[in-house]
Amino acid sequence: MSRVYDRVALIGLGLIASSIFWASKRKDVSVHITGYARSKETRNTARKIGLCDEVFDRLEDAVKDADLVILCVPVGAMEQVMLKIAPFLKAGSTISDVGSVKRAVIDAVEPHLPTDVKFVPAHPLAGTEHSGPESGFASLFDNRWCLLTEHESADKKAQNKVMNFWKGLGANVEFMDADHHDLVLAVTSHAPHLIAYTMVGVADDLGKVTDSEVIKYSAAGFRDFTRIAASDPIMWRDVFLFNKDATLEILGRFTEELFDLQRAIRTGNGDKLLDYFTHTRSVRRGIIEAGQDTDAPNFGRNLEPDVD
Ligand code: NAP
Repeated sequence: MSRVYDRVALIGLGLIASSIFWASKRKDVSVHITGYARSKETRNTARKIGLCDEVFDRLEDAVKDADLVILCVPVGAMEQVMLKIAPFLKAGSTISDVGSVKRAVIDAVEPHLPTDVKFVPAHPLAGTEHSGPESGFASLFDNRWCLLTEHESADKKAQNKVMNFWKGLGANVEFMDADHHDLVLAVTSHAPHLIAYTMVGVADDLGKVTDSEVIKYSAAGFRDFTRIAASDPIMWRDVFLFNKDATLEILGRFTEELFDLQRAIRTGNGDKLLDYFTHTRSVRRGIIEAGQDTDAPNFGRNLEPDVD
């Protein structure tokens, strides 16, 4: 993959930004990458581990010469950061982001976009439950999807360059309408995270997590819930605050189905349970037949947890 940009700036130096940096160095998709994080501690850590070619103490210094600026901060911080950098963005440059919610980020960024700057919202569907500058790694985006979303003032040329950048990082890229993105992610990621948070909370309420019983005898299912429920609290607070409608819609449907299954259990309706579980098993088979996952038990893992 040839170089796509001369200068890229990463704002926020956590898991996603550091993975972008390491992946881009591996594939050489940008000549020079600058970075900025709000805390001195994160900036110092970044310098210590060689994260970014240059780390700046001031936002404006990090962005002023960049051809592509990527906002890698929590969804709720996007507008605040955009307001600060807008006056310093280079004419002809592109702004992008990696936020897990797309409509809210578009609404936060677009009104402050200088006329000579293009905006290409993006969301890499890859991550782990770890955060911070030391948690990133070069292969995070390999063969994972990165969704680019359309918006009012979308520019084809800028979109193509951002697409090539993400392909250079190892991702597969597709375009998706922002509202559709938020609904799809509510089903595939946001509601499942809330369910995991709740399940771990319930187990903790019962007082059996810390006194070791639940951990000692936990099956992979509950252990996976605890891993998901260890995800960054600020990031996930913002996901739910800023993808409120889609998440509530999916949780509403989830609750209805749950009540239905609850009733089947209470009334001893085994046929209902059997039909339901037979159907969900066929959904899983469909995913495997479509080549979207492995058929190996426990996702082919040994003892090490997977990342998603
Ligand atoms: P992270 O590891 O927690 O890093 C977040 C970075 O944002 C840190 O450098 C932090 O600065 C900075 N930050 C936090 N609040 C800020 C504020 N109010 N103003 C300015 N900077 C602020 O997070 P991440 O996992 O890389 O997530 C970054 C973005 O990627 C989020 O929008 C998230 O939705 C999206 N995303 C995450 C995942 C995932 O699985 N983690 C996957 C896909 C997309 P300090 O270090 O100085 O505090």
